[in-house]
Order: sequence, then structure tokens, then C-alpha cells
Amino acid sequence: MALSIVDSCVNCWACYDVCPSDAIYESKPHFKINARKCTECEDDYAAPQCASICPIEEAILDASGAPMNPLGTLTGIPPEKLAEAMAEIQSR
Ligand code: SF4
Ligand code: SF4
Repeated sequence: MALSIVDSCVNCWACYDVCPSDAIYESKPHFKINARKCTECEDDYAAPQCASICPIEEAILDASGAPMNPLGTLTGIPPEKLAEAMAEIQSR
């Protein structure tokens, strides 16, 4: 089982150094996780370190494809409030 990094990754390097399995590598257009190396941090930490440090919501998915940091969990902004605000801004 392995986590994966998706398009919303901003290539900030934060996860790269915290992975105990050296599973994260630089790639284009964004960083990736080597599924054969990723242990989900099970033997090393209580939580996946890459997802714990990643500043971008929904940039890292769990093995089932669900976001590790869903919308609103890092910013504290409920997704519906963000959608309302974005709609208001775009209507100006
Ligand atoms: S879950 Fe752990 S082992 Fe897997 S890529 Fe993230 S930091 Fe590395
Ligand atoms: S910490 Fe998140 S945004 Fe930064 S490189 Fe890793 S996956 Fe991408």
C-alpha cells in the first residue's frame, strides 16, 4: 500500500526530506512517490510524514485515492464558504 502525489502538488520539497523510506522523488510536473518503497510510514511513525508536513490540501492521496488533507482541513475554511467566496470574487 502506498500514498500518491497528484497535480495540485506545488513542488515545495517539504515532504522529500521527511520520508523515512526515501520513497519521494522529484519529477515533472510534480513530485511523486515510489509505490514499491512507500510503507505509509507504518514502522516508523504514527502518521504518514509526507501528508503531515504537506501544506497543500488534497495534494497527497491515500491508497484508496482519498485525499490525506481534505479541503478545509489545513486552511480551516469550510469548502462551501470557500466556494461562496470564490464565486463572489469572480462575479466582480
Ligand atoms: S507515507 Fe511515509 S513512506 Fe510513504 S511516501 Fe509518505 S513519508 Fe514516505
Ligand atoms: S509537501 Fe506537498 S506540495 Fe510539497 S512537494 Fe510534497 S506533495 Fe508537493
